[in-house]
Amino acid sequence: MAEKQERLPFREAAARTRRGLSIWWKTAPEVLVSGWAREGVDALAPYLPLYFTAGLVNAIAGGGDVWLMLWALLAAAAAAAGIQAAVHCWDDAMRNAHQWPAWSRIFFDKLLSMDFCGIDDPKNQALLTQIEQLRNWSGWGLNRVYRVSAEALGSLCRVLGALALSVSLFTLPVPAGSPLAWLNHPLCLAGMAGLLAGSVALSAKLANEAQGYWDRYDGTAGNRGFSFFYFIAMRERHRAADIRTYAQDDFLEDAARQDMKSETSFGPNSSVGRAGRGPMGLLSAASGVVSQAFVGAVYLFTGLKALGGAFGVGSVTQYVGALAGLARGLSDLLEQVGALRTNAGFLKFTFDFLDIPNSMYQGSLTTEKRTDRKYEIEFRDVSFRYPGTDTWALRHVNMKFDVGGRLAVVGENGSGKTTFIKLLCRLYDPTEGEILLNGIDIRKYRYDDYLALFSVVFQDFKLLAQPLGSNVAAAEEYDRARAEECLSKAGFADRLAELPRGLDTCLYREFEDGGVEVSGGEAQKIALARVLYQDAPFIVLDEPTAALDPEAEAEVYTKFNDIVEDKTAIYISHRLSSCRFCDEIAVFDRGRVVQQGNHDALVETPGKYQALWEAQAQYYQKNEE
Ligand code: ADP
Repeated sequence: MAEKQERLPFREAAARTRRGLSIWWKTAPEVLVSGWAREGVDALAPYLPLYFTAGLVNAIAGGGDVWLMLWALLAAAAAAAGIQAAVHCWDDAMRNAHQWPAWSRIFFDKLLSMDFCGIDDPKNQALLTQIEQLRNWSGWGLNRVYRVSAEALGSLCRVLGALALSVSLFTLPVPAGSPLAWLNHPLCLAGMAGLLAGSVALSAKLANEAQGYWDRYDGTAGNRGFSFFYFIAMRERHRAADIRTYAQDDFLEDAARQDMKSETSFGPNSSVGRAGRGPMGLLSAASGVVSQAFVGAVYLFTGLKALGGAFGVGSVTQYVGALAGLARGLSDLLEQVGALRTNAGFLKFTFDFLDIPNSMYQGSLTTEKRTDRKYEIEFRDVSFRYPGTDTWALRHVNMKFDVGGRLAVVGENGSGKTTFIKLLCRLYDPTEGEILLNGIDIRKYRYDDYLALFSVVFQDFKLLAQPLGSNVAAAEEYDRARAEECLSKAGFADRLAELPRGLDTCLYREFEDGGVEVSGGEAQKIALARVLYQDAPFIVLDEPTAALDPEAEAEVYTKFNDIVEDKTAIYISHRLSSCRFCDEIAVFDRGRVVQQGNHDALVETPGKYQALWEAQAQYYQKNEE
């Protein structure tokens, strides 16, 4: 994903920025408004004391009312500081409360509404990583949109304020007869305006050239390495045991150091690091020098006009401050236009992500809520390839489930069992063939409705660091008696009785010091209770017991079988012994269903099942002896 930055035409950049702003406006308008107010006030506030300082110095030099001006200056300075502080507090509060939650909401809403296959697609994951890297690396992306808009508004205010304070510099003439009266000549005015325009343009150009080194710098790979070594590998507690037992610390630190030395990292050897010591640093410095040279020229011009008697000496401060502000405001504005264009290029990743289409067909039929649970599912010549691969994970699968029956799906690792379940639960749609529910293609049903028919415990199921009861019910509000009953059926009753806060006990310690760390076996029981609580007509257990030994797995499966009552249960395992109690066993081999029948028949028939059974039986026989 090492895509480099393109420089966009202004119109296109503005359109993307507008879209970014409208996303912010819809998600967190308060952040936009407070950010704009902050930059506007910051730009204008310094002009207030500047104006009164000039008045005070003029009063001292020219015999005006010094005390009045002094009090006015103090009041203006206090008012400016007070307003600034209040607006900063408001903006900080708005940003803390809304900026990150809004950013997350924008992306999580998209993730949560995306087809599962979209989330599973490595391309989309890489896109999201790219967006996060750019944000962490130098704030590019959606956040920059709102910052640039606020800064541009601030610059505009600075320019307008400066113009208001400096108009009289050009309109007040040096009295005729003064040797400096030539300063009134229109050419002098034109010269100052030209100097202003030239220095602003040159300083902004130099600053943008310096910024261009960032545009051309693709630090994604280095940043990914940096994040991995410092934030993942060294920090995650489930890696700590490996790091210690394999003494990986030196290895990791070396790898991290190497990453820092790489061309694409943040380190001093990266292209941007080298540029900072060389041309990029020089360009930034030159930009500053040009701005200051203009301020020098302004000092000369205003100083001479004051000397010629056009205005009091105090006004020199005002004009110099205002024109310096004008130059800064204009060059900032130009820089912000540059940043806006650079950022619009990076926004492409954000919009590519937000625009990922949901390609799965969304039907409108409702599944019949049958109390007799008479649902019939049929796989009709189903074949499937994962997106981006050209090998078939499933090939020509035909199968019908007995309603209320017990189906076992067995086969070696990689034979397609989990893929079969993912298709059954419509996490993916078949590449060829169709899956029917009560004779109708499952694509024609409403997606939520169809999914509600299944309770699945996947191999890598995850519980949340939330109260036990909420984990079981998958909801904050739930029926406590039912949650307890399900936990008890799943074999968790004794442990539940020991927990000081019962169903309210938080799992894990991410959020609560008093949270409990449940073992793998206990987590499984909670996951099974979750299945029972959901009370869906189809229950699928996809080897959630893989960490157990074969006999313990067989015991869990058989026991679970007793409590699922009239539901249709599908058990997946690569251990044949776990599923021998099932009415129907489908044997998968390299994506195909190669045999189907009950245990007794299959074990007598020469074929894959018999071969696997004999290979695995040696182990059980040894155990039994
Ligand atoms: P099983 O559950 O029997 O162990 P799977 O259904 O997980 O097997 O895998 C079947 C085949 O599909 C394997 O070759 C596996 O490598 C491939 N596969 C599984 N998941 C993905 C995926 N997300 N992307 C690409 N290929 C996959």
